[in-house]
Amino acid sequence: MIDNVAEGSKIRAKRLRKLLQSCPICQSGFADHQYSQFAMTINAEENAESYYAFLKAADNREWQELCSFQEFQGDRDAIIATALRCPGKGLAFILEDDPWAL
Ligand SMILES: [Zn+2]
Repeated sequence: MIDNVAEGSKIRAKRLRKLLQSCPICQSGFADHQYSQFAMTINAEENAESYYAFLKAADNREWQELCSFQEFQGDRDAIIATALRCPGKGLAFILEDDPWAL
């Protein structure tokens, strides 16, 4: 797990806070919560086979299979799987579209 205050993840943590607004488990803020982006793949027509395999693994909660997807390109749309740990209350699984351009 990556601490949400780690220097390298500040932008990502800010984006995740904005997206969720509150923890989906405890409904409060993110103090002492941690997250990790653990899988991602490119969302593009030529990568459709991999994209749908990613979604199938996510739907079936096949975590090891999902972790095998580590494809990312800064100039391509992506889908990202993130685990959010709520202290003492468990994990939330978040799937997020990550467009390269706004
Ligand atoms: Zn929480």
